[in-house]
Amino acid sequence: MTLQLMPDPTLAGALCKNQGEKFYSGRACKEARALCEECPVRERCLEVCLEEESRPWARRWGVWGGMTAIERTRKFGPAPGEMQEA
Ligand code: SF4
Repeated sequence: MTLQLMPDPTLAGALCKNQGEKFYSGRACKEARALCEECPVRERCLEVCLEEESRPWARRWGVWGGMTAIERTRKFGPAPGEMQEA
């Protein structure tokens, strides 16, 4: 089973609350990252993301903490769920 993650708009101060779609589609990704640049919980958001993406079934997905899934993979390596597919 693959679970697709998404930014956590419940983080207090999250600027992406109710704007989830921007965090997935390629064209809107640039807009999402710009929002992240201004977000007061960016560091905590990335921490939450990495915690979630460390679960055995997790795959990297969407923009979290200003980083795309590809950027997170480059920096932190593939998520466990992605390693099982390789
Ligand atoms: S850093 Fe970006 S993804 Fe994370 S809560 Fe803020 S706006 Fe949302």
